[in-house]
Amino acid sequence: MKVSVVTVLDGVFDVVVDETDSIQKIKEKISSTKGYPSELITLVKNGIVLKDQKVTNDFKDGCHIILLMKIDPNTKTYMTKQVAAAQQQQSKQSADILRLQQQFQQYQQQHPPVRQQVQAPTQQRRQLTLNDIQFNEQSVQIIMDAGFSRERAKKALFLSDMDTESAFNWIIENMEDPNIDLSLTSQQIEQIVVSKQREMARNQNQPVDPEVQQAINHNVCTYCVTGNSFVNQKWFMCKTCGLSDGKGCCETCAKICHAGHELSESLQTSFFCDCGAGQGKSPCRSLNHSALGEDQEMQG
Ligand SMILES: [Zn+2]
Ligand SMILES: [Zn+2]
Ligand SMILES: [Zn+2]
Repeated sequence: MKVSVVTVLDGVFDVVVDETDSIQKIKEKISSTKGYPSELITLVKNGIVLKDQKVTNDFKDGCHIILLMKIDPNTKTYMTKQVAAAQQQQSKQSADILRLQQQFQQYQQQHPPVRQQVQAPTQQRRQLTLNDIQFNEQSVQIIMDAGFSRERAKKALFLSDMDTESAFNWIIENMEDPNIDLSLTSQQIEQIVVSKQREMARNQNQPVDPEVQQAINHNVCTYCVTGNSFVNQKWFMCKTCGLSDGKGCCETCAKICHAGHELSESLQTSFFCDCGAGQGKSPCRSLNHSALGEDQEMQG
């Protein structure tokens, strides 16, 4: 059967799919006819990003899916693998939330709470707009390059925890909504910022995951237990190794791999260790899985 693929730059084209094809397989078909690297393709249907393992048997003949790909802002062509890889290095959500919090603290310092003056004329209270929020310019640009306005990109990012893919989904889900471009009110913005701030505070008060704690007790990098999943823990940025902007190292790596380095103050958010994940300047020296294994055996 035929499925229409809607793209931002290349218009619409058909791709012939089989009911048993996986999404990965469709991406490969698109890749072989259109030449886009299949790993850079995101397929979206009804606002949902289609996962590679999914099978297409719920597709109807003639249904359409949207193809999203990151586009180079300068050349207006699809990004090369290298550019895409560089972009993947960009900050994690936690850094965006931290920035948001800093922004809000700054804002609060400049504009102390006016709880008692709720009845006061509005002009006494500066209205908060999305211009008061700091965005990751790369993320805004990616969405704009898909053909959406700057305002819509910012609104989508702000409502999606600054996550680009979720922001795309938000846009697609709300595409039909006549209010999609309606500005958020000062109150709405403040509410979201405050709830983010509470979430951060909650995170900070939450106990560190016991497995993570065990790894730290054994001087093992927490990456050994978290892998690429974000788990609440203490971590540090390392200026010496260029681990900043959301990247950093776990408590163990701070002691072992990054001893004597220029570390940030400790942060506590959902995190996995970038040193253990191989993002440091030199290979991680605390990926000692066996130290954990032995201990678990002794307990069990
Ligand atoms: Zn580590
Ligand atoms: Zn370091
Ligand atoms: Zn390390």
